[in-house]
Amino acid sequence: MGSHYAFCCSGCGYSAEVSGGADYGFVAQTETMICKPCRAVVDVLVGTRDPNQISTDELNQCPECDGNDLTPWDDSRPCPRCNGTMKADPTSPTTMWD
Ligand SMILES: [Zn+2]
Ligand SMILES: [Zn+2]
Repeated sequence: MGSHYAFCCSGCGYSAEVSGGADYGFVAQTETMICKPCRAVVDVLVGTRDPNQISTDELNQCPECDGNDLTPWDDSRPCPRCNGTMKADPTSPTTMWD
């Protein structure tokens, strides 16, 4: 698993916990994108090293709605709800305490 960061919008309070960019997991490659219908920042599966585990039909889809109306989340970190700027939570990266 890659690192996930909590991003928060100071304008509307929206927050998302995403990798914040391209991420390479054990079998999956994800990229952080904005899903327009969900108005959410999501980690989208864009590639896999093991086609036996993940069907290519599942790539480039929003994990929430299975849609593909996705825009890469650029470095300006726009908020999908209010177009404000989302900032990484200073306590990031989130740590597993168990
Ligand atoms: Zn916002
Ligand atoms: Zn969606």
